[in-house]
Amino acid sequence: MIFPQVELAPADPILGLTDAFKADTRTEKVNLGVGIYKDESGSTPILKSVKLAEEKILATENSKSYLGIEGVQAYNRVVQELLFGAEHRVVKNKRALTAQAPGGTGSLRVAAEFLVRNTESKTIWVSNPTWANHQNIFKSASLAIEQYRYYNAQTHGKDFDAMLADLSQAKAGDLVLLHGCCHNPTGIDLNESEWQRIAELCLKQELVPLFDFAYQGFGVGITEDAQGLRIVADTVPELLIANSFSKNFGLYNERIGAVTLVADTETTVAKAFSQVKSTIRGNYSNPPAHGALIVSTILADAELKTLWESELKEMRERIAKMRTLFVESLKAEGVTQDFSFISRQNGMFSFSGLTKEQVTQLKEEHAVYIVGSGRISVAGMTRDNMPVICKAIAKVLA
Ligand code: PLP
Repeated sequence: MIFPQVELAPADPILGLTDAFKADTRTEKVNLGVGIYKDESGSTPILKSVKLAEEKILATENSKSYLGIEGVQAYNRVVQELLFGAEHRVVKNKRALTAQAPGGTGSLRVAAEFLVRNTESKTIWVSNPTWANHQNIFKSASLAIEQYRYYNAQTHGKDFDAMLADLSQAKAGDLVLLHGCCHNPTGIDLNESEWQRIAELCLKQELVPLFDFAYQGFGVGITEDAQGLRIVADTVPELLIANSFSKNFGLYNERIGAVTLVADTETTVAKAFSQVKSTIRGNYSNPPAHGALIVSTILADAELKTLWESELKEMRERIAKMRTLFVESLKAEGVTQDFSFISRQNGMFSFSGLTKEQVTQLKEEHAVYIVGSGRISVAGMTRDNMPVICKAIAKVLA
């Protein structure tokens, strides 16, 4: 027999927490672990723009035949417009090619496998800390992982000098994983001049940026959030982008994202992209259609696009309000520690600075679930659950 020797895998640090949350029978429990947007009533609704697009698709779709390996063509075009803007020279000069892929995770995995199989780039630098699944994805694709410092626990801010110092140790051809916006888990992003410096460092040291872009529109705005990516694309000859529409279209279970390859010429990108397609063919052959049809239908229709933009704005603004309310409510509960940095962070997450022991206490004594690193999903907070959360945090800090 071969299965008895297989070891039990450790629970996933984020999804394992959701399993524990579901099994918890306490009535006032709150899950601030996984990055899923909740509205004021605590549910994760289907966007109106998505429902309308689905009605259109249902009425017009006339075949379930296979898609090509790279997915829905119209979708791949609109992905590039969202990433770079339609007028960007990477798009105009046809230096980018995009393949639809299953979510941000699938896109990262395709990118990593393509790189390992076809290039000399076998090492990837990721921020410390980073999204827990990065290690898993890149190890599964046999990339070696190095870390660059990013976060300063004393200031609850970024440590840009340390980031530069660590990346200056990277060798030509090494990959650098960059969070396009709404850094997960810290919620701390680079500003324009810092992006410029990172772009120049990559150019000078011949490092290849791989953008993980899972939160476009959750930070400042759809265009503003692409600033870093566009600065880097303006500067370096080659990069990759793995983007996801799980969060900004609320299409979590449709598994919709894309991998985009940018090379120095149209000819080079076409040649390299043929190997991206080969990687996909040997993995899941070709992607499912529904999520891509939803996104491309919305972005091709001016009214639906405007509706989607307003729905995304509403989600972004609700999270920002929860950040302010969280800081105020902690104060009102008598917490003297300064948590004001939380209202300056971007996106769904905040790095609270709570210790592993405090996180355990929150779960065991108060049924408030957050990730062991102290990362809190602000997107899961509502006016209703805020008092429960803040009272519990005040108690564990007391
Ligand atoms: N990248 C980051 C930084 C994320 O936080 C997530 C999801 O939480 C993803 C990628 C993956 O997104 P998807 O669910 O589309 O695979």
